[in-house]
Amino acid sequence: RKKIGVLTSGGDSPGMNAAVRAVVRMSIARGCDAFAIYEGYDGLVRGGDLIKQLYWDDVRGWLSEGGTLIGTARCAAFRSHEGRLQAAKHLVQSGIDALIVCGGDGSLTGADLFRSEWPSLITELVNNGSLTKDQVEPHKFLTIAGMVGSIDNDMSATDVTIGAYSSLHRICEAVDSIGATAFSHSRAFIVEVMGRHCGWLALTAGISTGADFVFIPERPPVGSAGKTWEDDMCDSIQRRRHRGKRETIIIVAEGAIDAELEPITPGYIKELLVNRLSIDTRVTTLGHTQRGGVPCAFDRILATLQGVEAVEAVLSSTPDTPSPMIGMNENKVTRKALVDAVNQTKAVAEAIGRKDFRRAMELRNTEFEA
Ligand code: ADP
Repeated sequence: RKKIGVLTSGGDSPGMNAAVRAVVRMSIARGCDAFAIYEGYDGLVRGGDLIKQLYWDDVRGWLSEGGTLIGTARCAAFRSHEGRLQAAKHLVQSGIDALIVCGGDGSLTGADLFRSEWPSLITELVNNGSLTKDQVEPHKFLTIAGMVGSIDNDMSATDVTIGAYSSLHRICEAVDSIGATAFSHSRAFIVEVMGRHCGWLALTAGISTGADFVFIPERPPVGSAGKTWEDDMCDSIQRRRHRGKRETIIIVAEGAIDAELEPITPGYIKELLVNRLSIDTRVTTLGHTQRGGVPCAFDRILATLQGVEAVEAVLSSTPDTPSPMIGMNENKVTRKALVDAVNQTKAVAEAIGRKDFRRAMELRNTEFEA
């Protein structure tokens, strides 16, 4: 029987439990054994109780649970050769020959590196006496598949990542609540949302709530003829206020920058509104509330469909096929080459870093096949 391991890694996101549940149940349905690896890559490196077989009933009720019930961690050890050597030993000892990782681009990079090193890792383990030839014989190759769990929706080559819509819902609820108090007192609120390199949450929250302004990393504001963006923003807020609008909502992504790549902070925008327009202005940082809570229906569906596909992907993988990342493109679950998706995601951040915003958007939208 094939043994399939699943782990969640990096920042948690709503829907990760639904993903694990789908992997566990689909593995069982396809005649395999399912293993959870607790605490992300830490569980692989430390082994023991952190690698545990899960049965059908163990994941009952997981669809609607936020966060990740099998834990996640940032694991420095897995970045080292020694750490990955231990991880390989524990996988062979548990008999696991396929690994499904749900995490962000860092986690998926680690997974692909681990797979590419696998043959040399197990050779080393035999040579140093940690494992016998017989033990490693059935484990010559490691198959992996990646699922993207990220509230930021920051992965290239997929339209959406697990957790992004739940987070968006949370932000919308918060902004709606803030809007009511802003209206009551005629105040401005500057709401900081997550997204260091990717403005998806800020942008879609702005659209969903009818915010006055949105600041994102990918599109620094520019002023119109002879004016700065600060002038333009203040003019337009004043115009709206003169027309009777009582509340002003401005959404700022954590990674929002100006054309000089300097951060645009909520504090700076607040100063502009207070000093130039004398508007009573408050700053709200939504912080980790954006990660918590139950996954929305879409994330449950996405995670379930992708969990099913991830199991199919590891069952049909051969040593020659590139590691797949399970994506969603134009409402269809897809398989993309994980390495390409990760490299493209990194290239987006690099393009932003050299102010090539057009290229950044092209890279994010470019399609490629696995
Ligand atoms: P995310 O997966 O959300 O991008 P991180 O970048 O923190 O989060 O990665 C999560 C974990 O994945 C790290 O703590 C580390 O254990 C592993 N990892 C990330 N990058 C690598 C890498 N280049 N090589 C090996 N492991 C990595």
